Amino acid sequence: MFARPEAVFSQILTVNVMEIVVYPHPALRWKSKPVQEINADVRRVVAEMLELMYAHKGIGLAANQVALPWRLFVLNLTGDPAEKDEEVVFINPEILKRKGTVEAEEGCLSFPGLYGNVRRSANIVVEAFDLQGNAFEVSGDDLAARAVQHENDHLDGVLFIDRMTETIRRPLDPVIADFETQYRRGQEQGKIPADEVVLRQLGEREPKA
Ligand code: ZN
Repeated sequence: MFARPEAVFSQILTVNVMEIVVYPHPALRWKSKPVQEINADVRRVVAEMLELMYAHKGIGLAANQVALPWRLFVLNLTGDPAEKDEEVVFINPEILKRKGTVEAEEGCLSFPGLYGNVRRSANIVVEAFDLQGNAFEVSGDDLAARAVQHENDHLDGVLFIDRMTETIRRPLDPVIADFETQYRRGQEQGKIPADEVVLRQLGEREPKA
């Protein structure tokens, strides 16, 4: 979330190169499946996701955004790769408690340049597994609560534009339509794979028991 407008994104999905996908890539509407085993693959994916997140000036990134239907996301609220202590990996997260509501502006790396106010729970308690496979529980407010809710939504195929009120969303609709037009144009030009290809890949990439 909170992409800077000048960031440049590639919309091309290849099998081996991890890239941030842009709306309306079908992975963004996929309900991700729980990670079955925290192994070397998961650690490699997390390391690559963090790298991509920093490269795109983000503070959070969900696996759906790299076309992996796995229930995990990464956060570093400082957005600073030097602040390794601030990195948090949430594997199979569950939001246990929510309190209050607060509205503030959000962005998303899958919607470069798009910003809008979203109402979220003000305080949350979330439970997840870390990269060592240990369960942990954290509470958060402000940006932490907002970022967790935004990323956790991604795992359910829910996007921040879905959470906007009519009033906030209406002026943004032309921009959202433009994302769709550009994506479809990329598909027509063969630069972006057809949805059916991507949907098949997503099914194949679901975590295996
Ligand atoms: Zn996002």
